[in-house]
Parts: sequence; C-alpha cells; structure tokens
Amino acid sequence: MRNLIVLKDIKRNFGGQKVLKNVNLTFPRRGLFAIVGPSGSGKSTLLNILSGLDIGYKGDYFFAGKLMSSYDEEDLLNIRLTKFGYIFQDFRLLELENAISNVLLPLDAVSFTDRKIQKRRASDLLSYVGLENKEKQRVNTLSGGEKQRVAIARSLVNDPDVLLADEPTGALDERNAKEVFSILKKISKNKLVIIVSHDVSSVREIADSIIHIQDGEITVEDTFVPEELEELSASVEVKKNKKKSSLSLFFLFSHAMRLLKEKRVRTSITIGAIAIGLIGLGLSMYVANSIEKEVGGAFSSLLPSNCLVMGSLNSSSSPISNVYSAPEEDVIAIKESYGEVKDYGVTYMSDWENMFANSNEAFFVKAEKEINFPSFSIRNMAEYLWLDDYEDKIYYPEMPTEMANDSIVLGLPYSAMFNLCYGLNILRDFESLGEYVEFHDLLMVLRLAREEWGYKDEQIFKVVAVTQTKTPKVFHLNHQWSNFLFEESMRFPSSDNGEVPVNKPWTLNKLFYLEAHDDITNLFKTLRNDDKLSSYVFERTSFDENGEKGELLPRAYVFLCDKNNVPYSSIKEVSNHEAVESRLLTTNGSYVAAASSLLSGFSRKFFISDNAAKLDEVIDCYSDVEIDEALLDYDLPNGVYNGNYLKAMTGGVLFSSSISNIKEGRKPEGIEECCVSSSLLSTFQLDGNLLIGAEISDERNGKRLTREFAKGNLKIVGVIDEKRPTIYVNGDWTIDYFRDVLGMSSFYLEPTGAILNIKDGYDLDVVLKELSKAYPDYKFENPSGNMLSSLSSTMDYVEVVLISFSFVSLTISVLLFAIMMVIAVNENWKEARMLYVLGISKRDIARSFSLQALGYGGGALGAACVSIALLEVVVHGYISSSFGSGSGFVLAYEPFLLMAGVCLGFLLVFAISLRFYIEKTTYVTK
Ligand code: ADP
Ligand code: MG
Repeated sequence: MRNLIVLKDIKRNFGGQKVLKNVNLTFPRRGLFAIVGPSGSGKSTLLNILSGLDIGYKGDYFFAGKLMSSYDEEDLLNIRLTKFGYIFQDFRLLELENAISNVLLPLDAVSFTDRKIQKRRASDLLSYVGLENKEKQRVNTLSGGEKQRVAIARSLVNDPDVLLADEPTGALDERNAKEVFSILKKISKNKLVIIVSHDVSSVREIADSIIHIQDGEITVEDTFVPEELEELSASVEVKKNKKKSSLSLFFLFSHAMRLLKEKRVRTSITIGAIAIGLIGLGLSMYVANSIEKEVGGAFSSLLPSNCLVMGSLNSSSSPISNVYSAPEEDVIAIKESYGEVKDYGVTYMSDWENMFANSNEAFFVKAEKEINFPSFSIRNMAEYLWLDDYEDKIYYPEMPTEMANDSIVLGLPYSAMFNLCYGLNILRDFESLGEYVEFHDLLMVLRLAREEWGYKDEQIFKVVAVTQTKTPKVFHLNHQWSNFLFEESMRFPSSDNGEVPVNKPWTLNKLFYLEAHDDITNLFKTLRNDDKLSSYVFERTSFDENGEKGELLPRAYVFLCDKNNVPYSSIKEVSNHEAVESRLLTTNGSYVAAASSLLSGFSRKFFISDNAAKLDEVIDCYSDVEIDEALLDYDLPNGVYNGNYLKAMTGGVLFSSSISNIKEGRKPEGIEECCVSSSLLSTFQLDGNLLIGAEISDERNGKRLTREFAKGNLKIVGVIDEKRPTIYVNGDWTIDYFRDVLGMSSFYLEPTGAILNIKDGYDLDVVLKELSKAYPDYKFENPSGNMLSSLSSTMDYVEVVLISFSFVSLTISVLLFAIMMVIAVNENWKEARMLYVLGISKRDIARSFSLQALGYGGGALGAACVSIALLEVVVHGYISSSFGSGSGFVLAYEPFLLMAGVCLGFLLVFAISLRFYIEKTTYVTK
C-alpha cells in the first residue's frame, strides 16, 4: 500500500536556528501517529509543513504521490480545506456561533449541497463526538472538552484524509483528554491521524507509532500495523465543490452581524459617529437644495407675484417737511388755471377760545336790550360758510343776492331761534323772524376781550336773513369774507406767504383753500397730474366743518412744502413703461411696501369684513388701548380679515391692482368698487358690499393710545381667480379712498412709491435693470428676487458652515471607523488565521470583515436617513405653518442619494484597502 505522506530530507531553518535537520518520514493512509518532543523542538513546525502552511522548508514533501511544492496557493487552500482536518490546542472555534455553525464552516466553503443535507451531516458528526444535544448551543458557553469535540466534528466535516491535531488535549483535564483521545483513536481506524504532544506518556497508550523530535533529529518508535478499516458513522455523503472554494455570503453576513452585536458599545459608537458625518453631509445638501426652495416657495406664494417695488432712494427721510400755507397769488393762479375750481377762500386758524379768554360772546341788540346768543362765539365767524354753496336752503325772508361786508346770514338751530324770538317779543317761528329781519335792523354784537393784551373790541353785524341749521352758522356771499373780518375790521396781523410779519401771540395763521364746483376727488386728480404743483399739498378741510348737507364740502386747503417723496408724475411716467401692467401707490399713511423686508400691506390698523357688527367689535377692541398693549393683536372673528402689513402675509388679506383673469363680473371703476379673489367668495359675494374699518390717526393720552377709525365700504363688482385672499382695486385707490372716503389727512398720503405689476412674459430682472437705468433718481426692487437672493446668500453661508462641519465630522468618523476596523481585524487575527488554516481564502476573510464594515455603514446610513427624513418633515411643517402656506410635503431625495453615495464610496474604498491589507498579511510561514 502506497504511503499517503512521504517526507524526504526535510530541513527547516529559522535564521541560523536549525529546527528540523534532516527529516525522513512516511505516513500510511490510516493509523494514529504521535509526534512528541520537548517544547520548542519543532513539532508544530513539522505539522505546519505537513499542512502546507509552512513552505519555507528544503527537501521534498509528497502528498498522495504529488510534490506539495508544485501547488500554488489556491491549490494549497483547496487541499487544506478538503484533505486536511485541524484540531488545535485552543480549539479556534467561532466563539459566537453555535456548535453546528462551527461544524458547518468548512463545509459551507466547499459544498454546493442543499443546506439541509449539510446540516444533517454536521449534526451526525456532532452525535459521533457525543454532542447530539448541544448543536444549537453557542460555543463560548461550552466546556473545554465539548469545544474540542466540536473542533473534531469540524475537522471531519469535509471528510479529510488526514487529521492534524496540535496538542489537542493541552487545555483539557484528564477525563476530557481521554475522551478526546478515544475519539481520535476511533477516527484513526480509517484515517491518518497525526497528534502532536509534548508529553509521551499521555499518547503512548493510544498511538500506533511515536515519532520523537529532539534537536532537529527524528527517531521513530514502534511500527504501525494497519488494522481493518472501520466505517465512520457519518452517514451522509456530501458532494464536494470542484471549483474555487468560498464561504457563502449568508454565512459571512450572519457571522458579521453576530460580531457587531457582540461589540454593542463599539458598534453603536461607530455607527453614531459615521451617522453624524453623513447627517452633516445630507443636511448641507438639504439646506442647499430644498430649504432654500421651500422657504423661497413659501415666501413667493405670499408675495404678489411678478411685481417690482418703486421707492425713493432715501426712503428713511420723511416725505414732507417745512409745511406752510401757500401764498394767495399761487392760489389765485391755480384757481384760474382749472375750470374745476369754483373759487378760493381764506380761513384763519387760531385757538379762539384761548385767544379771547376774557370775553368771547355774542348777543342781539333790541333798543337798549341785549338778547343772549348762547353757544355762539368768534369760532362760528371764522368757520363761516359760503352762502352760494347752500342755495337749496330756505331763507327768511329770502336769500340775499348781494351782501355788504358787515351783514351776515345767520343759521340758527330751533332753540336759538325760539330764544331770539322771545327776546324780540315776536311769534316764535322762522317766518316771523324773517319778517322782523326784513323790516327792522337786527344787529348782532360780538364782544371780545383779552385783558393781558389790553384788548377789548365789539364787532357789530347786521343780520339780513336767517335759516334753520343744526348748529349756529354764519353765511356770507363774500368768499374772502374772513379776510375782511379779521384783517380789515378787527385789524389783526396775519401770517402770509409763510413769513410771520409780526410774531405776536395774536398773529393769525392764514390759510387759503380751493373749492371745487362739485366733485373734489376729480379736482385732486387734476391737480396731482400737474407737475408744476408737485410741491403743494392739498388737504381736505376737516370733518368738523361738516356742512349742512351732511357731507364734506368739496374744499381743500393749499399748503406749500418741501417734499422728499416720489412725485406722482414720476410714478405715472414709470407706469407707462410697456412692461408695467398696473400700479398700486404706496404712502406712509395707507399702504406700504418694503421690498427688502418683503412686507406689504396697510401701515395702520386695517380690517375688512362682510358684517358691520363684527367689524365694530374689532374696531372697539383697538380704538382705546393701554400704550403697553398697543402692539397686542386680538383674534379676529370669522369673516374679518386683517390688512395690516404685518399680518397681510400671514393669513391676512392682500390688496392688489393687478386685475386680470376676471372670472365673473367686471373691473372696478372709481374708488368705491373692488374685485375679490375667488378664495374670498365664502365670505363675500359678487354685488355685495365689503366693509372697511381703517385707522386714520392716533393719539397718545398719558398711558392710553386712542386710534381714530374711519369706516367705508366697497362694492364687489368682480371675482378674480386667485388662491390668496386678495382685494383688487384701482391703482390710486390707496390714496384716493383714504383721503376722500376715510378722510385721512393728505399729509399722510403723499406717494412714497408704487408696487408695479409687471406683465406676463417680461423678465422681472431685465425690467428692473431697465427702470433703474432710466430713472436713476428712484429705487427699484424685486421683492421676491431680493428675498431669494438674500435667502440664497444666507443659505450659501449656512451651507459652507455645514459642509465644513460635515467634512470635519466625516473625517473624524472615517478615522474612527478605520480605527475600529483595524482593531477588529487585529482582534480577529486569530480567527482569520484559523479560517486560513482551515482553507478559507483571503478573499473570503476580507469579505467577512467587509461585511462587518457594511454593517456599520448600513446602520449609520439608516440612522442618518431616518434623521434627515424626520428633519425634512419637521422643517416643512415649521415653514408652512409660519408662512401660512399649505404646500404639500415632498421628500427631497437628494440628501439621501448623497449620503448613500458617500457611504457606498467609503465602503468600497474600505473594502478594497481591507482586501489589500489581508492579502499582504502572511498566515503562511516562508
Ligand atoms: P514546538 O515543538 O513547541 O511546537 P515549534 O515548532 O513551534 O516548537 O518551534 C520550534 C522552534 O522554531 C522554536 O525555537 C521557535 O522559536 C522556532 N520558530 C517556530 N516558528 C518560527 C517562525 N515563524 N519564525 C522564527 N522562528 C520560529
Ligand atoms: Mg508547538
């Protein structure tokens, strides 16, 4: 019978040390051989040569008739895997795996057989070594003897020809050692079993032959007598894989997972560190792409789209300064230029009650008798009305057609008439009084005194007609009658042309006004279209002078002032640009637009509603408040909308002059009509009325703030398709309605610019450049562009910070990861070498580590993805709630792609370098 192993003249030196000097040995196909010798005598070296792990020897080694040195590494791996079984002193099992997995390991690498059959074989072998009940038990919970028996089962699983056991009982007690020996003895009945031991006595009983090594020399004791072949009890035959051996991915993966689980703390730290790096990357990508888009979108959805804001270059200075009354000749010139002007008049402003503190009363004279005229004073004279404005009234005896300057027409309330008639001793009605006036001289005396100035005066007027009025009134045909009264008759000095000639307390402020024939709104329009009048302010006379008609007189005071605003004419000119579809004027008092801060809306409190009671309720809340609470906002009842610039963008109502896409109805005409967006149709109806409550002035009284509100309404004449709640009005509405309907002072209503709606098809930025070039005196801004560019530059900054952060953290996490892997590789070096000894290729070993890395990477990627996804949901929720825009949530996928890409890239680089590293590691002795 041919020997299985033949060693001829084997020499092995380590440096100068001759470990094996000249070994000539043969081993048959079966039998139990013991190699014994003192420690360090070269037993393991001999065993390593036999298994092909040591290739640095001299001499010839024939295995099954072939020279071992003729095989390459791949062949040797395959031979180790299929022809040799190994048993080590320290077992070298996968401690975390159960018994059967350990036994299956070499089989897994070679076999294509059904996993079930493999398992069957493994469990048969475990029964063979007496471990039938421990299959599923983790190796690190087994006793030493049990471990070694698992190792024996593993060594047999590929049905090898040779079993190599290096001190197999070195770590066992006597009883276990005996058991192991007896199993090995049993195996040696039909396999070659070579046992290394430093203790001759323990092997002497079982060995068929004992080989002594000492000082590199071999002596063989006893001769082996082969016995009858005895069948191994392992019943299942497993087909061997003829191709490259490799461990199944399933095995590698589950083993890697078990290793990760074992090192829980390390695993979670590593995963955490990598995850933070990845989150940093994903976050910067998210900020770069999505937050900017999302915030931009949220903003843009609130802004009136396609508009530019025109304003003054120096918007911080107030639009008006140095106000004084216009000189008479200017007023006459204006009057003569415009047919709309009926005439001009003059009024004197003074604190009359204070000026004539010692006497300021009127009485009628009949013979020597004085008849009291209560509640009449010089103020009634100063606020006299033009008789010709009240031609419809009934006069007693009749309306005069000519009047001397010392005569007056007197308007009396019923009670005053009654009182006067009583004093005159006539019938108490207007007819009788008229008759009296017609035939007698009814004189009215105004007695004035201010002792401090030594002033005492009596002015006498002849009453030429009376009429019934609500409060005492004086009428005169002379439109400059006050001039006669105060300057000629009473000889008071007055300011004129802005200069104060006599700066004394009794100097009167003189102010001219224009009165229109009928519609003052038209007159205002005409006047503001005249460039030459751009330094005037025309201020409606106040509501206190409310005439008998129950409405305002069509009058406007004429002031001259220095203006620093954007002239109406310039806005008009810009609005004529072909790209401009419409404009909405802005003023400090009514509607403001700050392109840089994206705010537009009414500068003061402004509410609209469909319901007068609800509107009143809201107005009441705001009319009189503590100064400290002035900034508080109250919840508005349903159907009331806020138009204030601070609220317009967050659920309030927008005003726009961009009227296109009319769905129903028509465009508004004049200032008392509007269109509404379709979104407001649940509150307002076409042809219905929209009520407005607007703050027109405010006043501080100690600790309280009182706001004056004015109310008005707009007729809804059309509906426009638009999701944002918007009211559509004509372009000059923000001035005209406030002045003529709400009665706000013109001084608050000087145009400061305009919102220019740009036609579709024009590029906002191009138009912006064009306008800025054509009108260098004014500032043009694209609110959304402004916002988007400032947003994007902010985001760029944040992005840079985030990218640097993520690079730092990624670097740290990669380093940490690498350190962890180096530790893992070194820690598992024994395992790796064991695998190699068993015949597992380096490729598979590297793979097993790479899978561990994959576990880290996958865990980290998963954690990072979940974090970013959560973040996206939260950020979206936050942005849409704080901007009140309800756009749907769309998961931005770019951060995930980036994180996965980077993670995969790193894993790939890592796997390659690991492979390289393991390839370089020598498990073979050369
Ligand atoms: P043992 O009989 O105890 O198993 P070994 O075969 O392990 O002894 O070692 C025999 C001698 O060879 C020892 O002196 C040891 O130091 C040396 N030796 C073994 N392997 C190597 C190696 N890879 N490099 C250098 N010296 C080695
Ligand atoms: Mg040894």
